[in-house]
Amino acid sequence: MKPSKQLAEKLLSKRRVGARGLQKPARNKSSVGPLPSAAGNIKEASEDADMETFIRTAFDANYERLRFESGHSLSPELKETALQQALLYWRRLSNIARRVTETEVHLTLPSQKTRQERPFSIEGVVDIVREDGKTIMYDLKTHDTDAVRADLASYERQLNIYAYIWRQLRSQSLDQTAVIATALPEAVRQAIESGDGETIQSALAAWDPVIEIPFATDHVEATVRDFGDVVDAIEDRKFAPLLPAKLKKRETRNETFATRVCRNCDARFSCDSWRCLKQRFEA
Ligand code: SF4
Repeated sequence: MKPSKQLAEKLLSKRRVGARGLQKPARNKSSVGPLPSAAGNIKEASEDADMETFIRTAFDANYERLRFESGHSLSPELKETALQQALLYWRRLSNIARRVTETEVHLTLPSQKTRQERPFSIEGVVDIVREDGKTIMYDLKTHDTDAVRADLASYERQLNIYAYIWRQLRSQSLDQTAVIATALPEAVRQAIESGDGETIQSALAAWDPVIEIPFATDHVEATVRDFGDVVDAIEDRKFAPLLPAKLKKRETRNETFATRVCRNCDARFSCDSWRCLKQRFEA
């Protein structure tokens, strides 16, 4: 399968098609209307048509699998909105997807030891673009660009570990690293809500999901040590949820931690802080 199709599949599975995180469709609208094309020439336009057919097929297969696994299904309108979002991802990210030379590259930093001598390893998955003699490493995140920019240091630490593995352990050259933030920005969401093709086109044009990450592997040792400390803390059962007050604090895009993180946390039903917040909310 072509890397661009693999990336499209990855976007679909990262999106985890479901009600969570999707906007309700605008009233009386079952789709976002005509989608703007990103194709720059006839060959690309033909590839776009081919890819959109592929996305529709992969979307249906992905949806049926999730429906079977979870026992939940979407209303036809919400399902159509989810499909339109997947198509929009392709429209906006196709210029990168077309250039990807290796996707789902697994990187491993093996045989590490925590301060308490516990063995651990660090693993990650990235996409690689090799073009004009340059190699760029992309890390796909389902976060939005504001959240990434607000916490750039932690993305930088993670990506720099991958860069270190790529360069030192695999002896490969690397010129640039970047995060692709796939969550739809508010402006694009609102444009989709409007259902107007031109509004969507201009919102898409203004959306830049690629955030270049400063490339420096000087702090890799400290980051690996931090990972090890987390491993020790987990193994020693020294962990606790954030306090309820922290969950309510507004962060980027005026969202609370509870909305941004806890809502998708598998541990929330056994989390005291989440329960406490819900009780207060429902009281
Ligand atoms: S719900 Fe999950 S993310 Fe939120 S505080 Fe509890 S454990 Fe942490």
